[in-house]
Amino acid sequence: MMAQIPDHIIDRIRESVDIVELISRYLSLRKSGKNYKTTCPFHTEKTPSFTVSPDKQIFYCFGCGAGGNVFNFLMRYEKISFIEALQKLSEETGIALPKFREDEKKVSEYDRLYRANQIAADLYYQLLKQNYEKLQDYFKKREISGETIDQFRIGYVPDRWDTLFNEITQKKLPLEPFLKTGLVLESEKDRSRKYDRFRNRLIFPVHNLSGRIVAFGGRDLSNTEDTPKYVNSPESAIYNKSQILYGLFYSRDWIRQEEYVIMVEGYMDFLQLFQNGIKNVVATSGTALTEDHAKLIRRYTPNVVLCYDGDAAGIQAASRGGQILFQENLNVRVVILPGTEDPDSFVRSRGTSEFYALIKQAEDFVDFRLHQLQTTIGFKDVSQKARVTEEMIDVVASHSDPIKQNFYANLLAQKFQIQESTLIEKIRKKSRILRSRERKTDLSRSLESGKNSLGTLFTGAWNAEKDILIILLNHFPHVHNIVFQLIDEEDFLNPPFRSIFNLLKNHGQQQEDLIHWILTQIEDEKIIGLLTADLFVEIQNPDRYLNDCIQRIKITRYQYRIDELRQTMRQLPPDQPDYQDILKQVNENLTQIQKIRKAFAQK
Ligand SMILES: [Zn+2]
Repeated sequence: MMAQIPDHIIDRIRESVDIVELISRYLSLRKSGKNYKTTCPFHTEKTPSFTVSPDKQIFYCFGCGAGGNVFNFLMRYEKISFIEALQKLSEETGIALPKFREDEKKVSEYDRLYRANQIAADLYYQLLKQNYEKLQDYFKKREISGETIDQFRIGYVPDRWDTLFNEITQKKLPLEPFLKTGLVLESEKDRSRKYDRFRNRLIFPVHNLSGRIVAFGGRDLSNTEDTPKYVNSPESAIYNKSQILYGLFYSRDWIRQEEYVIMVEGYMDFLQLFQNGIKNVVATSGTALTEDHAKLIRRYTPNVVLCYDGDAAGIQAASRGGQILFQENLNVRVVILPGTEDPDSFVRSRGTSEFYALIKQAEDFVDFRLHQLQTTIGFKDVSQKARVTEEMIDVVASHSDPIKQNFYANLLAQKFQIQESTLIEKIRKKSRILRSRERKTDLSRSLESGKNSLGTLFTGAWNAEKDILIILLNHFPHVHNIVFQLIDEEDFLNPPFRSIFNLLKNHGQQQEDLIHWILTQIEDEKIIGLLTADLFVEIQNPDRYLNDCIQRIKITRYQYRIDELRQTMRQLPPDQPDYQDILKQVNENLTQIQKIRKAFAQK
């Protein structure tokens, strides 16, 4: 995979990085036996299946099958190529990589998309600079400074269908990545006709946590009624809406420092607050909040203040979004702005100190929901009170921490003048129902993903082939002679396992750390996951198990041959001379199987 970088350098870099320390920068790991655990960043789950082994320096998720070493983790988590992961750790460890030419770099699919976005962002930013005079009034009215424009690389695209497309054509750039990031679209009627997604808009580049542009938001400048106010990039290989919050790349250190985050809805809200020194802020930018967003936030702080518009839509967004964050055990408070204000207009008209005063008065999410339900349902007669109580039981039961459930039950009991024990009992019951429902969906989801990812690969002696590789990886000096004597590549029916077998056969002897070397040689994430899964398990009595695997592989190979022959026989009339010939071959193969059985029985 990486012929130009010597293995010993890759080894040294990997050995200088501790996988527990590295992953801890992104996820909060908890010690569990000799391993560490947390909830998986690569699939949605409630109970932690993501496991890190400090002994073996590998990670594996028992829920979705993601696994590998430090490089594999970075590649998956940061969505970067192997060479980029290597460069990142090389800079960090000070272990230099040999120089290689730019075009020798393996440019990953992700890279191409990032580059397309960067090219577009640069173009839009240049266009804003060129057209600044025309746009000046707009920015003055909105009080967006030149520094803010520069820092967040705000761009502009004029009212044409082909601004970006022309740039691509003129510079002879490959079109594919621009189509994949959704910057350029194909006409449905005539696929040869291409046009830009964004036109006559202000452009806000959206960065991931590595500071690379994954998407754009475009704000309409025409002010016509039938044009949507915002247009956003679609999801792509590098953009998953539920894992990105606008501005987090810039604000995360401030969020850590202030120990809470202010969540706003719009790009302009974010920019206005940030520009005014309120920097612990992120924007949801029109996306509904998800569990993944909650996880993302929790990396920096458990405390969230939702600061949404005062209109009905804002209140609804706050109760929906707040519920998600609340369920995920974040401390959620809510500020609803007065009248028709949004955070942007509020800060401009009233200044930062009034804004901070408002944040100070933010309501706890449970109180906010209660007041909101009391307003919408009413709280006068018994039936209204009962309905509000039922709704509030749902809210509190969704929280995953039983101690906090009790605390809220106590609070509500006082407010509703109900016996606390009755309320707690109801909440517990509801909570159990919710949890069992979640477990079921978690389980079916992971079964589903397992099935899809492996598709039709389950052929022949799948497990035996894989286990031979595992035994080789764990006990190479001890077993390689016998394995390579008895088994050859033809015995492997699954192509990915066959190629790993060949790698081990041809290069295994020269490698010091075979496991980690092989992990850097495989490109298929699923196969990496499969191997790391088994590296977590110690094989008892490897010699006997090895015999068993060799036997199974050999027999399966002959069995396969027999199946093929029988298939052919079925299409032939028995009086054909070929038929007898094939029958003979079948019997020969059967004899082989008998021989193997006997030979292994004696061992
Ligand atoms: Zn997982």
